[in-house]
Amino acid sequence: MHADQDVVTQDHHEELTLKKYFNNIWVAVRSLIKGLKITSKYIYSEPTVSIEYPEVREVLPENSRSRLFNDAENCISCLQCATACPVDCIYISANKRDKEAPKIKTKDGTPIRLDLTQYTIDTALCCYCGLCTTVCPTQCLTHTTDYEYATYTLGQMKFDYLDPEIRRWRDRIVK
Ligand code: SF4
Ligand code: SF4
Repeated sequence: MHADQDVVTQDHHEELTLKKYFNNIWVAVRSLIKGLKITSKYIYSEPTVSIEYPEVREVLPENSRSRLFNDAENCISCLQCATACPVDCIYISANKRDKEAPKIKTKDGTPIRLDLTQYTIDTALCCYCGLCTTVCPTQCLTHTTDYEYATYTLGQMKFDYLDPEIRRWRDRIVK
């Protein structure tokens, strides 16, 4: 115990000679050069990982789960999406089709027996789990790759899929 204390005391009071002074400077410069060498190796050899958004936009993979789109003309109002949704953010209303009305089908041949009167998704609540798209029997409900739909109010995040504006958005985003 006393011996250790002696060593510390001796180191602390070690005389700083001119040789040791320049040696300390050399050790510091050498460490700095070593660190810079490692840093510059990564700066120049690694690919760029950031982009200058919004001038440059990343193209998301086709299976990205971003903003939802319901191709309402192919929706049979079966409610399966709303039932599967864990946060209850899909609001659907439909009326029974008139018996005299022309028989219509979805593009995959499923008869449409109900007239859809409301199909709204509150994307402020949506957690993008994808369950609603998985259960949709006519595959009219899909995720798009659109991630730029920030709004100023929560109310603006409710999207009405019977609104013609939605179709224009879809035509612009979904290629
Ligand atoms: S992605 Fe998930 S949370 Fe969003 S609407 Fe579909 S089921 Fe609901
Ligand atoms: S599951 Fe598909 S077909 Fe059924 S109500 Fe939802 S979007 Fe329409």
